[in-house]
Amino acid sequence: MIPFNKPYLTGKETDYIRDAVETGKISGNGEFTKKCHEFFEEKFNFRKCLLTTSCTDALEMAALLLDIQPGDEVIIPSYTFVSSANAFVLRGASIRFADSNELNPNISVDSVRSLITNKTKAILVVHYAGVACDMDAIMSLAREHNIYVVEDAAQAIDSKYKDKALGSIGHLAAFSFHETKNIISGEGGMLVINDEKFEQRAEILWEKGTNRASFFRGEVDKYGWVDVGSSFLPSEITAAFLFAQLESLDDIQKKRISIWHRYREELDFLNDRGEYLPFIPPYAENNAHMFYLVCKSGDERDELIKQIRKRGAHPVFHYLSLHKSPFYSDKYHGGELPNCDRYAENLVRLPFYYELGEDQQVVVDAIKEFYG
Ligand SMILES: *Cc1c(COP(=O)(O)O)cnc(C)c1O
Repeated sequence: MIPFNKPYLTGKETDYIRDAVETGKISGNGEFTKKCHEFFEEKFNFRKCLLTTSCTDALEMAALLLDIQPGDEVIIPSYTFVSSANAFVLRGASIRFADSNELNPNISVDSVRSLITNKTKAILVVHYAGVACDMDAIMSLAREHNIYVVEDAAQAIDSKYKDKALGSIGHLAAFSFHETKNIISGEGGMLVINDEKFEQRAEILWEKGTNRASFFRGEVDKYGWVDVGSSFLPSEITAAFLFAQLESLDDIQKKRISIWHRYREELDFLNDRGEYLPFIPPYAENNAHMFYLVCKSGDERDELIKQIRKRGAHPVFHYLSLHKSPFYSDKYHGGELPNCDRYAENLVRLPFYYELGEDQQVVVDAIKEFYG
């Protein structure tokens, strides 16, 4: 069986977890958490990082920090994971779903522009497959209308827009270390705060609404309840696992990029048939988070999946349009989102993981066979 995903372990995870356990301090915000924060802040030029228990939690923190209130409008691509929307729905926001680009599933800047009103408080962009959205255009729209930008960078570790790391551009950004991402800790995530004005409050929300973090730095002589908050921080056991992965980031990325290019080269023949291969704009870097194909119809996609499954490999489709979901469809009053619907129906993701090895050829051969 060739699964869609298989979590890769570097071998150091259990060593570091043992170290964490032996220090006797296994709750959050300890030594391994600090090491992870420093790693990210130095390598990617993120202003301030806070590990969270998931990307979902980081997005919920973002919605709290932006002080989203009932009636505020937030623009979100319909082609994304539910958490991108739920974080704002939980605060009572009304969601304005935007369409994807014609050439890739990222949010269409024209669609965003058409949805801005005087109630728009934030735009959430998703760097799908780790490929950057058009951030200059998004940030300038946001500046013009006084709107915040949150990057859902769940899939976008070690990727860039021009010379800037993804996650360093929006006012806030959220990463995921779920076992399906490039760098993992089982469940896990991180909030990045790039706008100084959110720094202090982010730490308070993170520590259950207390100023415990500044107490530990010796800035205040006692800590107490100063704001709303929740328990967003992961334990040192999760941070220790994550740090082992981060030390192998370059190796993991090198491997994933070689797998990506092998798919791209082997499947180059699809290029002549239109529509199939991933499009990476000139301003974007490819972090090899996934390899997908966009078929010409839903039926073709389903047949292709069946064909590859017959060979023992497990490709999968991806998001269903959120504006047509059971939860949201009767609340949706916007127009058609044809590109989003097309990716929901026609996109297929191929098996992709560090240890894929020669099994990759099985997938490639099944696709070649299907297209004859
Ligand atoms: C994986 C993912 C999430 C959720 O991440 P968790 O860490 O599982 O909460 C959110 N948004 C996108 C785009 C994702 O790919």
